[in-house]
Amino acid sequence: MKHGIGAGMVMAALLFASSPGAAAGQPAPPAPSPTPGVVALRAARMFDGRSDREIADAVVIVEGSKIRDAGTGLPVPPGATLIDLGDVTLLPGFIDAHTHVTGEASESWISDFYQGLRRTVAEQTLLGSSYARRTLASGFTTIRNVGSEKDMDVGLRNAINRGWVEGPRMLVSRYALGATGGHCDQTGFPPETFGPETGVAQGIIHGAEEARQAVRLNVKYGADVIKVCASGGVLSLGDDVSASQLTDAELSAIAEEAHRLGRKTAAHAHGDAAARAAARAGFDSIEHGSFVTEETLALMKARGTYLVPTLLAGEWTGGKLERFPPEIAAKAKAALAGRSDMFRRALKSGVKIAFGTDAGVSPHGMSAKEFGLMVDLGMTPAAALRTTGTAADLLGLSALIGTLEKGKEADIVAVPGDPLKDIHVTEKVLFVMKGGRVSVRPAAQRQP
Ligand SMILES: [Zn+2]
Repeated sequence: MKHGIGAGMVMAALLFASSPGAAAGQPAPPAPSPTPGVVALRAARMFDGRSDREIADAVVIVEGSKIRDAGTGLPVPPGATLIDLGDVTLLPGFIDAHTHVTGEASESWISDFYQGLRRTVAEQTLLGSSYARRTLASGFTTIRNVGSEKDMDVGLRNAINRGWVEGPRMLVSRYALGATGGHCDQTGFPPETFGPETGVAQGIIHGAEEARQAVRLNVKYGADVIKVCASGGVLSLGDDVSASQLTDAELSAIAEEAHRLGRKTAAHAHGDAAARAAARAGFDSIEHGSFVTEETLALMKARGTYLVPTLLAGEWTGGKLERFPPEIAAKAKAALAGRSDMFRRALKSGVKIAFGTDAGVSPHGMSAKEFGLMVDLGMTPAAALRTTGTAADLLGLSALIGTLEKGKEADIVAVPGDPLKDIHVTEKVLFVMKGGRVSVRPAAQRQP
């Protein structure tokens, strides 16, 4: 309870401050110019995310960055700019709780690795800004970036907040915390290939005391959330995908320290034992969860731990095995096989499911495919749409985003037709507004 309120306040300060970075002594950034006056959006339908139903003849009144009102047939206020979107459905801006926006996998794992070694941090961050723009254009107005190196994520978040580049609102983790030789370490190469051994400054921890120090360092340098690698991973060399990689003492120290500092905690865990240990240690979410059992799901439900299933990552890696070295291909195949049954078990268990894709593993800009994948595995379209509201809750931002209602940020997308009849229309976003600013509008609406 205590840490929940703290996290919400920290997030609000970080994400919605008018001049981020001013406290650090930087010159005042140029504020993004707000949409002047009042804007009214009109659409055939709206799914506001507060229930499983749509309403017809929808009007959303936007003033500055906020929603002034939303409902059926509301009168357009005099002097307001009317944007009549026609036969579309308005939805809350999509929220992705698991992204890697500073990178993107191509058709070849080996080529990505080689090209990555040759790029400067500046080049990689600029690439990240192009991925961020694509992400926003596809309807994602908020993302949580879980794991990045050399402060590319912090830099990109700050640049977006300052209006230097276009992109979604970002919560960032800096380095994911993990064990020597684990998923978050550079594993699978001889000693000294990458210089001195990685340590606490890169999130590689040994014992509870270093775990605390790593949390403090991440917070010191701008992390909004703390991410750990509790189990092995799919796209790492030399580790077992389901093995637990952190001790109970390390996990507890991380959760306690992060929560004391008002930060949420996310645990990457494919293996069941790792997921259970992280849930027991008080982590806010289990990411992936490929091999999580009924028993662990019951524990997560009882503790209020969220599941972030990242179905798209399994789909993209498990469906394209030829791109990977054989040891990674074998893990991708196993994770894909595990996750579909796990997702069905999760639906039955009633655990809270928050939207998350692992975008970056899949190309940025196609993350709305996650909605269709959840529906394919038995979720109703309405429940799938509402997982982004659950993501807002996981991020500690549900007072500000996640539904279309009076007083919330004007983060609004429009999709053609009716997503309750065809969930795949979420992949064809026509209109995007973030904090009252329009970033994408239909061709018919474009002014010369
Ligand atoms: Zn990930």
